[in-house]
Amino acid sequence: MHPLPAAPTPLTILIVDDQSATRVALTAELDRAGHRVLEADSAEWALELFRRYRPDLVLLDVEMPGHDGYWTCREMRAAEPGGWTPIIFLSQFNQDEDVWKGIESGGDDYLVKPVSAMILHAKLRAMQRLALMRARLVQMSEDLRAANAQLEELSSVDALTGLMNRRALDARLQQELDLARREGKPLTLMLCDVDHFKRYNDAAGHVAGDACLRRIGQLLKETCRRPSDCAGRYGGEEFALVLPNTPRSGAMTYARALMRTVELAAIPHPDSPTGGTITLSGGITTCLPDESTSAEGLIIRADDALYNAKSTGRNRFFSYEMQMDTAEQRRAVAPSPGPAAPPPATPT
Ligand code: GH3
Ligand code: MG
Ligand code: MG
Ligand code: MG
Repeated sequence: MHPLPAAPTPLTILIVDDQSATRVALTAELDRAGHRVLEADSAEWALELFRRYRPDLVLLDVEMPGHDGYWTCREMRAAEPGGWTPIIFLSQFNQDEDVWKGIESGGDDYLVKPVSAMILHAKLRAMQRLALMRARLVQMSEDLRAANAQLEELSSVDALTGLMNRRALDARLQQELDLARREGKPLTLMLCDVDHFKRYNDAAGHVAGDACLRRIGQLLKETCRRPSDCAGRYGGEEFALVLPNTPRSGAMTYARALMRTVELAAIPHPDSPTGGTITLSGGITTCLPDESTSAEGLIIRADDALYNAKSTGRNRFFSYEMQMDTAEQRRAVAPSPGPAAPPPATPT
């Protein structure tokens, strides 16, 4: 045999052959090249070693008493779903049909015994190269998957507040609209806009403005008591709430509770014409969706109602359908101002 340089990376190689003479010769050669060798004289033992040690490569005899090499190869493939260990068949026969059967059963190459050292090492190098390329591909697709997951996360979460961003909100609104339509339940959308926020920034600076938006985002999140309620940042100093299974009156009650929460938080506003603390204005729309109801339509109505809330003095929520704001509703429903009730859990 030719003296060959040691392999660049030592491999763990499983030799499967019922003839000890073949195993001894191959083991000596592979040993010499610095590889670690495992030996099996039967299909069963080969499978056991394969599962236990996960070799880098298998040299597999075709003809063995009991289960043959083709069977063993199929079992090995089944034992590593998603994985790939190079398997090279060894056989005394070199009929075209034998080679075909070997590849068909999951083998990667086919060598005729006795195997010359030169050919053996050449095949090992080729298989090693393929295995390395495959490992790189697997790693790359894993990296790609992780990057995609991160991108998905980035593209659905608002970086400043940690709430859903506009994109995720739009998707959520559409999803809840479809659900409400199927179940015949009312759906409420609220757009909330911070009052005089430009003045806040001008007086307190942008960094404080950012902190203030984060705080408001937190408060909005806290008002979402039901798992299906969700708050998001619609953009700038505008937020949105998607409230499934919430009828008009419930939405008004929710809005009053939200305003009360903001009032109690008493976030100082250094330059607000409506008082010394941060206030919100909101536009509410509630629908029992039918085929003609669209997410865009809901946003347009909520925006319209928000405009009304702003133009009638701010620090109030206006309902598009009721054409009434929270202050008017409070006077109509409960003449004496008391603490606002929490949002209702069921439609009223
Ligand atoms: P109105 O009561 O009519 O809503 O008045 P406003 O000043 O709140 O409304 P306007 O639309 O004039 O200004 C919104 C301000 O919100 C201007 C902008 O600088 C500020 N803003 C938007 N996004 C951010 C942000 O991410 N951080 C900070 N600090 N400010 C923001
Ligand atoms: Mg044999
Ligand atoms: Mg605005
Ligand atoms: Mg504003």
